Amino acid sequence: MKSRIQATNQQSKIHMNSYNHLLKLNHSAIVTLDSDLIIKDVVGASRILSHHQADSLRGVDYLSLVAPDYQNLVVDALKSLESYAIEYPLLQGQHQQWVRHQADHTSERGSECSFIIQAIEAPTHQSPVNEIAIRERTLLDTLPDMLIVIRQNGVITDFHTSSDTQSLGIHDDVIGQNISDTKLPQALLDETQLYLDVGVPDYVQSIEFSADDTTDNDYFEARLVRLSNDEIMILIRNMTAMKRVQDDLNQHIEDLNLVRQVNIELSADLDMEYVSPLALDAALRMTHAQAGYLAMRESEGGFKLLSHLGAYDEAYLQLHLTNQVGIIGRILKHNRAELILDVSQDPDYIPALEDTHAMMAIPLLSKTQTVGVLVLETALDDRFSRERFQFLQLITGRIAAFLDNAILHRQTKQHLEEVRELEQLKTDMIRIANHDLKNPIAGIMGYMELLRFDIKDKLSESERAYLDKIDVAAKKMQRITSGILSLERIEQLKDQQNLKTVNLMSLVNQSVSEQMDYAVRSEQILYRHLPDDNIYVQGDPLQLHEAISNLVQNAIKYSPPQSHVHVTLDIVGQKARVIVEDNGFGIPEDQQERLFSPFYRVTTRETRFIEGTGLGLHLVKNIIERHSGEMIFESTYGEGSTFGFTIPLMLPSLVG
Ligand code: ADP
Repeated sequence: MKSRIQATNQQSKIHMNSYNHLLKLNHSAIVTLDSDLIIKDVVGASRILSHHQADSLRGVDYLSLVAPDYQNLVVDALKSLESYAIEYPLLQGQHQQWVRHQADHTSERGSECSFIIQAIEAPTHQSPVNEIAIRERTLLDTLPDMLIVIRQNGVITDFHTSSDTQSLGIHDDVIGQNISDTKLPQALLDETQLYLDVGVPDYVQSIEFSADDTTDNDYFEARLVRLSNDEIMILIRNMTAMKRVQDDLNQHIEDLNLVRQVNIELSADLDMEYVSPLALDAALRMTHAQAGYLAMRESEGGFKLLSHLGAYDEAYLQLHLTNQVGIIGRILKHNRAELILDVSQDPDYIPALEDTHAMMAIPLLSKTQTVGVLVLETALDDRFSRERFQFLQLITGRIAAFLDNAILHRQTKQHLEEVRELEQLKTDMIRIANHDLKNPIAGIMGYMELLRFDIKDKLSESERAYLDKIDVAAKKMQRITSGILSLERIEQLKDQQNLKTVNLMSLVNQSVSEQMDYAVRSEQILYRHLPDDNIYVQGDPLQLHEAISNLVQNAIKYSPPQSHVHVTLDIVGQKARVIVEDNGFGIPEDQQERLFSPFYRVTTRETRFIEGTGLGLHLVKNIIERHSGEMIFESTYGEGSTFGFTIPLMLPSLVG
């Protein structure tokens, strides 16, 4: 925003200079009055109103400056809606200064009015109004730095110039010359000739050209205005400063776009390997640096090179960073970014590249700590500027925040990995124990049966209850071991292609029928919704049966009496879908994430005392994935759950 305001100011300054210049040359002033004819502004007044300072004229009644005999003339003229030119004397102390007062209706702005007064020696024959109107309108419009009037034959009849058009290389002595003999740029001459040849009547033509024979290549705009049948006016304006302002503005806009883009890129991804080259690249682009690197602080306090561009020796650079010496050491010590315009003058400088001339070294500070360093280098002595350095600061905060996030992300990932490893270890240990437990449990169960059979009658009530408890515990152990065995079986089948055509319709039907008893015992209603036709998939019927049964059992098990369980089989797209829906206890959201991990059990008030191993869902998921299928799961605590899966339909050509 600031740069835009500066630019506008600069532009109006350019306008003002052109105005003043031209007005001085013409001994003219532009006067602006308000509706009470009080002077609001005067530009270029010096000679005509020599008695008054331009500033002190502000607020003065204009009529008080006009010779009394002419005041009515002026009032009438000012009321006119047409363009006009009048002549009258202005009071200059004891003296009078004749002026020609010209206005055209286009210079009216609301209640204000502007006109030009030009000092003249004495009253003259007034020019036709139209001619003046066009001249003045054009003057007001274009504020030229050079004004040339030529006849139809090309001969120059009038010429005014200011220092802003020096690079065009023509001077006052051109009056009387033919325009084609002047040193004006060919582009302008060609355009003028064309205008003369075509003979366009009252028409303004704009052309742009540059004084390409000069080294600084000034940039101009010319307007060709036909004044009469025989006269053309060429108004030339030096646009160089304006163009520079415009270029500057464009550069700023480009810069801001770059910042915006970098911000988007940096927030799009947390992957350090992907984003760090992007961040470095943005920094290089923003500063026009030729080389540089980005390093991140490690948890032990050292720095790790993330990304670099340039002929660096990576090992050397890493050493440099690890030891935090030289300029790096200094900026880290003071936590302050530095622009070193000439590294040869810096006693701390240790070269990492051969011909570095200037350097930017920036510690990247997140909220609480230094998370990295950014170094940019150039071999050129005019590449880095304070402005570029400050501009870079716009994104360093963003890069630091990104590093901060990425470090956090990495730590979380590491943590998760550790958890996963622990989980695997747990599973492995249980698996090993399972093998060792299988036989002893079978032993316990066997001897239990014998005991029951042999001494049943000799036992007291409480002794029999103890025996029942041993039985329940042993059966639970057996369930765990058999669950683990199922898992192992599936794992072992992983690579074996043991696929059969499975009629999913009869499989679902069978599984539901088998669970009917359990549902009745649990005082629940079990519904089945089956399609009219058979549905075939490829797979292992035993495993799929186990998966469906598990889901139906769970739905009954984790629902209170009087609940409803719906089992549905249908087709969606190219897949068969099995859904088991209950309106039971449901699962709290914060416990859903690990639901399919082995041995994971949900703990809620309602399900606390329900027995289980935490292996069922893990097993189901394994089976379904082995069948190239996907799990379906949704649950709301207190409302119920939906478990299910989809697996690809068998190709019709294979259904035999
Ligand atoms: P288990 O039933 O042996 O505990 P599972 O792996 O089958 O093990 O299920 C894991 C957990 O998911 C269970 O402890 C139970 O809390 C929850 N759960 C499974 N199915 C349902 C369901 N239909 N409704 C509510 N909770 C369920």
